[in-house]
Amino acid sequence: MTLPLLLGAGVASAGALIELAYLVGAAMFILSLYWMSDPKTARRGVHAGVVGMGIAVLATWAKPEVSEHLWILIPLALAVGPGVWLANVPLTAVPQRTALSHAFGGLAAGLVGTAKFLFWFHHEPEMLTSFRVGAIVFEVLLGFLTFTGSLIAAGKLQEFRWIPQRPWVYKGQSVVNAIAFLAALGLGVTLVVDPHAAHAPLIFAGLVFLAFNFGWMLVMPIGGADMPTVIAILNAYAGLAAVAMGFVLDNKLLITAGALDGSSGFILSIIMCKAMNRSFTSVLFGAFGQVTASAAGGEQKQYKPETPEDAATILGESSLVVIVPGYGMAVAQAQHKVRELYDALKKRGVTVKFAIHPVAGRMPGHMNVLLAEAEIPYTDLVEMEEINPEMPQCDVCLVIGANDVVNPAARSEASSPIYGMPIIDADKARTVYAIKRSKNPGFAGIDNELYFLEKTRMIFGDAKAVVGELARALAGPSGMH
Ligand code: NAP
Repeated sequence: MTLPLLLGAGVASAGALIELAYLVGAAMFILSLYWMSDPKTARRGVHAGVVGMGIAVLATWAKPEVSEHLWILIPLALAVGPGVWLANVPLTAVPQRTALSHAFGGLAAGLVGTAKFLFWFHHEPEMLTSFRVGAIVFEVLLGFLTFTGSLIAAGKLQEFRWIPQRPWVYKGQSVVNAIAFLAALGLGVTLVVDPHAAHAPLIFAGLVFLAFNFGWMLVMPIGGADMPTVIAILNAYAGLAAVAMGFVLDNKLLITAGALDGSSGFILSIIMCKAMNRSFTSVLFGAFGQVTASAAGGEQKQYKPETPEDAATILGESSLVVIVPGYGMAVAQAQHKVRELYDALKKRGVTVKFAIHPVAGRMPGHMNVLLAEAEIPYTDLVEMEEINPEMPQCDVCLVIGANDVVNPAARSEASSPIYGMPIIDADKARTVYAIKRSKNPGFAGIDNELYFLEKTRMIFGDAKAVVGELARALAGPSGMH
């Protein structure tokens, strides 16, 4: 064999190896999603995703056309610091952490699209086919929109002072948005029709400018309470931007990974909207969170406080206790104390179940993750639809830092912002104990009638401290009344 033939054969087999690596990477991503759908296999799912991504990066790096290896090392080295920082944020900050990840993904897609357009325009104009330019327009619009939108979402979740939590709305907003959208559409179509025109880079710059602005224009009018759903939608946008990037770069793995990412983002946002009984449009345009606390009405209603010791006595004498954890348990990091309480009650022969609302906390699966961390058996975690029929037989419903997800206004008050959201029927239990620190409302900003019911007793205090006291009272001699 001659040298050119040998080299040719080498390149061909390297190409085949890279394709094979991409196939393995894609399989890993699919397995990762599959395993992540169950808490028992979720860790394996995360590892599979990491391995899949590692294979994808190495295989792409090994491509013969990649020549500037040093240039690749620079961003990789720069990414380590923020990556380690993002991986170590507390669990309560995971929603904003996720938003930041999407922001980076969107920015990367937008930058790759911009670089490709400019490079091809100046050096390889024959590459700028209408199809490729269409994909670039899509990629840049969604990528930069995801970038600024996700930054605003992260800022709202982090409750930065200079980003209002309340929906930011003004008169004629939808008209301004519509004009901007039509302008972007016009610029995109102009580019697709004639990508080689002398002023194409200028049109492209206009498109990039609009894309950057779309993100904040779309997210600012949405209230902080809807940010987790918005993040799921932005996740879908970032995935679609990656699909477009896959077409631009002619990379099948990117298309597959982007499609998986985009579709799972959409599915997640649909699940969340369903759990809150809200439509996509009401999340995106409903200005949720504008309503201020009012439900308690004119007269001053009275809470009935209880001491942890007295509550422990009643808990210890119950046969069925249902615990409803919420965002406050996450804030207090009370899960390990909850485990102690669970053990103490079990020891006394009490049946204990955890009622898991799909949007309790601030991210999907928030309560499952915390309770799994405390090694509470999955079998005692019961989903809302299954636990609700049991609530009338429940002796004590112990609400730990939950509010909106047990608010009966969701069933009865048509004017309430949470009206129609399915809730855990805590009010149907024989007795209710609710642990929270103050009289403040939950995330939707509304009062909760549950706390004023005849059967309800409030145990004011930090969830970790109060649950710890309950567990001690039940375990120690003072709990043995
Ligand atoms: P919530 O309505 O936000 O109420 C949490 C309660 O915990 C508050 O009333 C607060 O009262 C209390 N709390 C905070 N820190 C505490 C501490 N250290 N110790 C004790 N109590 C503490 O929470 P939720 O019932 O879990 O409802 C979740 C809300 O988020 C819903 O409105 C849901 O629609 C929304 N949301 C969730 C998701 C998701 O994916 N999970 C997505 C979108 C929207 P004090 O301040 O008085 O203590």
